[in-house]
Amino acid sequence: MACTFCEIASGNIPASIVAETSNFIAFRDINPISPTHILVVPKKHLESPAELASYSGEAVKELFSLLDEVADREGVKETGYRIVMNIGDDAKQEVLHLHFHLLGGRRLGSIG
Ligand code: 5GP
Ligand code: ZN
Repeated sequence: MACTFCEIASGNIPASIVAETSNFIAFRDINPISPTHILVVPKKHLESPAELASYSGEAVKELFSLLDEVADREGVKETGYRIVMNIGDDAKQEVLHLHFHLLGGRRLGSIG
């Protein structure tokens, strides 16, 4: 398996896991750019938002509940945070396995 996030999801590569549901896993970014920098990824290897759109409404609900729960646990729910998904070259996506960055714990700059 060549994909780093597939390896993390299957437990073959260690990561600092903060939460998990049946379809998604949340772990700390290895190179954080803010005090809270969590990656939330589908356990299955997906590459595009269109593939995520094929998930059931329950699974998508599970995803947003997990993002909310992680923000709460990290103590950024009240202070604010940002959820970012980089797609493709122009967004400087490095890992092709679909993922959300949850960033917080400091005043973030403008998007762009
Ligand atoms: P992208 O630019 O693809 O949106 O972001 C990929 C993110 O994955 C980067 O922030 C990078 O630091 C993180 N990352 C890459 N490899 C690993 C790894 O092996 N473990 C963890 N925890 N994070 C990783
Ligand atoms: Zn993968």
